[in-house]
Amino acid sequence: SKPIVAVVGRPNVGKSTFFNSIVGRRVSIVEDTPGVTRDRIYAEAEWNGIHFGMIDTGGIEPASKEVIPAQMREQAQIAMDMADVIIFMVDGKEGMTAADEEVAAMLRRTGKKVILLVNKVDNPMNPPDSLYDFYSLGIGEPIPVSSANKLNFGDVLDQVCSSF
Ligand code: GDP
Ligand code: MG
Repeated sequence: SKPIVAVVGRPNVGKSTFFNSIVGRRVSIVEDTPGVTRDRIYAEAEWNGIHFGMIDTGGIEPASKEVIPAQMREQAQIAMDMADVIIFMVDGKEGMTAADEEVAAMLRRTGKKVILLVNKVDNPMNPPDSLYDFYSLGIGEPIPVSSANKLNFGDVLDQVCSSF
């Protein structure tokens, strides 16, 4: 069966935008504000002839900030159970949050390949200072991406597919 890539991260970082862009269809709902989206979504994707499945673990994203850590723990658990490679997405515009650190701690313990993407770096010539803060998550090198304009997607997909 095909390898599985799961996209994990707190609401509104751009998981569904990234997912739709990779799978080449608008499968997952993109929300302007954290709100209710659909359940976990699966689609198939392909890069350079390599086929894989992707999961957008956004699930039902609660509006209340207090519930987010619990939601993210659940996402991380789904990813850890099902995925061969985990994409952990954070928001370069907002910077690092406590919830990011909590999920990073869980992901570090999985032993699975985790790729850390710092989304919303729309101008690669002017990355936010927060980019370097994300090194402290202990996941490895943070890769700046822009799901809005597909910045660095080739590098990301090369890394994903070389991990299978
Ligand atoms: P999710 O909750 O993590 O699935 O995030 P969404 O994909 O629903 O996106 C949340 C918001 O961020 C939407 O308004 C998107 O248009 C916006 N967004 C997503 N990716 C980018 C990006 O690369 N740059 C910018 N500036 N906005 C983005
Ligand atoms: Mg979403």
